[in-house]
Amino acid sequence: MGKTAISWTNFTWNPWRGCHKVSAGCKNCYMFRDQKRYGRDPNVVVRSRSTFNDPLKWMDPSMVFVNSWSDFFIEEADPWRDEAWEIIRRTPHLTYQILTKRPERIPLCLPDDFFPRNVWWGISAENQDTLDRRWTALDLSLYNQDPSVMFVSAEPLLGSLIDITVSVNPWSRIPQWIIVGGESGPEHRPMEIDWVRLILHKCRYHGIAFFMKQDSGTQPGQRGRIPDDLWMQEFPKRDQVIDDKGKRAKNIDAARALGQGELKGE
Ligand code: SF4
Repeated sequence: MGKTAISWTNFTWNPWRGCHKVSAGCKNCYMFRDQKRYGRDPNVVVRSRSTFNDPLKWMDPSMVFVNSWSDFFIEEADPWRDEAWEIIRRTPHLTYQILTKRPERIPLCLPDDFFPRNVWWGISAENQDTLDRRWTALDLSLYNQDPSVMFVSAEPLLGSLIDITVSVNPWSRIPQWIIVGGESGPEHRPMEIDWVRLILHKCRYHGIAFFMKQDSGTQPGQRGRIPDDLWMQEFPKRDQVIDDKGKRAKNIDAARALGQGELKGE
């Protein structure tokens, strides 16, 4: 574990491994494939003996993808998560990218005495339904918090995303960053290029950073059929909250004020 070929991060950190499939995006999960190859049961969640403290060794400012082999908010990890939060707190020079399919569990899992500003909070969404449900849950779970970045990983993209600015409340935040990727592996399901073009178009309209990770295909990371105008890899700016009309506000309060102002007809 450590240095990774995943293009939108620098390191992967797996304080625990093992998971359970929760939606269509999990069908060909690479963790299941890899763990079976090592003779392990991927459904059993275990604390890692060898990698739990890895971030304490990384001295340079870097991005760290958390739990590429599990989900940070999976229930079985509840006894170990406080220790992981403590490592995150002690390493403010690292930016932790936490990507979850269980955002509704976040309020139960936050540390008691601090809110980690060096965490980027993301959900995985493979289609419109999972985007709607998980983004709404993430936004509500962080309702009283001040996250520096909130983002979506649309990988493996299995359907068109018509609406990327899910807005259940007038003050709902919208993603600052969208990663797009087709499925990789021997049983990959195809991604349509038009789905990607629509996402980029909407990102441009709303001022959302867009990161094209890979085409669908057997090999991870391959550019494949992605044309030049879609092959761009942008990163979000911290603390750039975007409201649902594409205006930018410096912080959560300002974004909420914008939403309330519009409600009052200002
Ligand atoms: S949530 Fe992620 S790690 Fe867990 S089964 Fe699904 S794809 Fe795999």
